[in-house]
Amino acid sequence: MTTTETRQNTDLLDELNTWLEENWDPELTVGEWWDRLGLAGWAAPMLPTNAYGRDLTRGDAMAVGSAIARFGAMAAPMGMSIGLCSPTIATHGTQEQIDRLIPPAVTGKIAYCQLFSEPGAGSDLAGLTTKAIRDGEVWHVTGQKVWTSGGQYADMGMLLARTNPDAPKHQGITWFAIDMNQPSVDMRPLKEMTGHAMFNEVFLDDAEVPDANRIGDVNNGWAAANTTLLHERSGMGARGGGGPVGRMARAGGVAGDLDKRAGDFAPAARSASSAPKPDKADVKDKAPASPAQGQIELAREFGKLDDPVVRQRLVQAHILGTLARLTTERHKAVRSQGGDIPGVANFSKLLMADIVRLNRDLGMQILGARGMLHSYDDNAQGEMSSLPGGLRAVMTTGQALGAQALPIYGGTDQIQRNVVGERTLGLPKEPGDMSKVPFSELPKNG
Ligand SMILES: Cc1cc2nc3c(=O)[nH]c(=O)nc-3n(C[C@H](O)[C@H](O)[C@H](O)COP(=O)(O)OP(=O)(O)OC[C@H]3O[C@@H](n4cnc5c(N)ncnc54)[C@H](O)[C@@H]3O)c2cc1C
Repeated sequence: MTTTETRQNTDLLDELNTWLEENWDPELTVGEWWDRLGLAGWAAPMLPTNAYGRDLTRGDAMAVGSAIARFGAMAAPMGMSIGLCSPTIATHGTQEQIDRLIPPAVTGKIAYCQLFSEPGAGSDLAGLTTKAIRDGEVWHVTGQKVWTSGGQYADMGMLLARTNPDAPKHQGITWFAIDMNQPSVDMRPLKEMTGHAMFNEVFLDDAEVPDANRIGDVNNGWAAANTTLLHERSGMGARGGGGPVGRMARAGGVAGDLDKRAGDFAPAARSASSAPKPDKADVKDKAPASPAQGQIELAREFGKLDDPVVRQRLVQAHILGTLARLTTERHKAVRSQGGDIPGVANFSKLLMADIVRLNRDLGMQILGARGMLHSYDDNAQGEMSSLPGGLRAVMTTGQALGAQALPIYGGTDQIQRNVVGERTLGLPKEPGDMSKVPFSELPKNG
């Protein structure tokens, strides 16, 4: 890191700290706090400056999140509104759409879900059949979506719909921001093996979306969809191990957290005046804890630190986690020089998938039979936390059950490899390329 970058980062954290001193008040409601944070550009600082952001790199944005947590203030809203939807609108929307749609997203007033996948269109997303037909200034949408994460808490949806069935499949799709609160949108939660219902199937039966909420040109939604997916993949690949967070509040009007007290969601209940300043030396110079730290402590607690197979996997977890962090830092350094690393979002996601699988196997190996105990509802979680291994063991089993998710969503491992092969390495495309055939003439199953 150059001296100039260090100074810029220090200035940024100084500015943030001064702002937090003046603005953080645990007695605000969640909605009031997120209003302040979002409109000042601290909730989604990677967005461009004309879109309620600060044009920061992912690394600097993560430093902002950590500094807010260290200060003891409540974190910015999380989720697709900030991570996927806002960057897509910022890239493909008009300034009028940016000013109308992004403020409610970055202030957590509105939660978005992602209405991309369908029963017959997942990896082959461009094969989607949900259609939108225009009638004046309104589009009428009919079809089915599935695996819609957080749909039951969403106010709005990022919708991909087919608007020209006679164009080749990638060229007849349009991206919309659709209101989920209409009777013609039917949301049905799907229960997973974790015991939770994170995702849903969604039926749209003549649902309406105004043309003013069309992001990008008609039939050019594939470009916007790729922006959404790029942010989804690079967000996943950049996850290192997570920073300290308090109880999480959900964004959006449906979840019902906006009127709650912000201080109850802060990592430590401190008043602004007594909060310490972020320690810059801590941010810049201290070596990060091992990404395997949590697993090392779990192994110690279960007396497995001498087990040679566990030790080997702990070292693997350390190496892969360190590789993920170094890849993010290297990408950041290259981008700060105006360059890029082709395929980095794809292979970072592949690396993250390997880490998740390794942690699943390692965690289960450490826990042994204890790993079979899982709290299928939140009440049981409290009781199980009093057993050996405590909350860490509960979380380890929960994460192991959820480990199948990351290698699938945002594009499966196989699809990431295809993308790296074709676009980064220049390998020939898969045989039977139908990308030029009109969608309506493509062979269909059944
Ligand atoms: C936890 C979770 C959350 C999700 N959240 C959302 C959401 O919020 N919104 C949303 O729209 N979607 C969501 N999804 C859906 C996700 O994007 C799809 O599951 C994913 O794209 C894969 O599609 P599919 O399930 O239809 O599998 P398929 O596409 O049917 O794939 C089945 C298998 O075939 C392999 N395969 C398919 N095509 C190829 C190929 N060309 N080459 C090699 N192998 C191939 C795949 O890798 C996979 O192993 C979520 C999924 C999960 C697991």
